[in-house]
Amino acid sequence: MEARCLMDEDTFTENFNNVNWPRKTYLCYEVELPDGDSRVPPGWDKGFLCNKPVHVAGPPHDAEMRFLDLISSWNLDQKLRYRVTCFISWSPCAVCAQRLAEFLWENSHVSLRIFASRIYTKRKYGDYEAGLRTLQAAGAQIAIMASEEFEHCWKTFVDHQGRPFQPWDELDAKSRYLSEQLQHILQPTAPPSLPPLYFPPSHPVPGPSFRSLRGSSG
Ligand SMILES: [Zn+2]
Repeated sequence: MEARCLMDEDTFTENFNNVNWPRKTYLCYEVELPDGDSRVPPGWDKGFLCNKPVHVAGPPHDAEMRFLDLISSWNLDQKLRYRVTCFISWSPCAVCAQRLAEFLWENSHVSLRIFASRIYTKRKYGDYEAGLRTLQAAGAQIAIMASEEFEHCWKTFVDHQGRPFQPWDELDAKSRYLSEQLQHILQPTAPPSLPPLYFPPSHPVPGPSFRSLRGSSG
């Protein structure tokens, strides 16, 4: 594996802890490279970005925008199919969600799934709920990070020096709560007269193989 920049433990814990309320946004990404790809620079298929502080001149600021700049700069091969997974400490704001959706509409050879640690609920940048629905309509899969994703990020993006991931108090409860909130946001048009679907507690996020991270890559 190529040497690449890893996040220090404190940065990860401060920013991805789903009980915290940090100001920054961190985005970790993984691109599954299809056979024959020569566009993604070696070692750049995994990495992380942070939003740029507002006082630093020049757009773009948000981590998602910086990621879109990065992936666009690779000029990915339209004949191949790329699967991108992002783990974001805050879900995209309305503006970023719209930009991500536009990227997906224009790049049908790229699929995107997003796991967010927390839901960004400030309306300063527009209707975040509509933004998330637009992003989902553009084909993105959106979910809340659970312990499996936190541990995966720890192992993949953090300079952990061999130490195992240590879940914090309330990780699972907060993740379940946020997952319910997200489901509510993404399915707002369900008739209120219908009873909620029952899912066993051990499977809080219904869906196909979406949650399996240990896919066939490699
Ligand atoms: Zn944003």
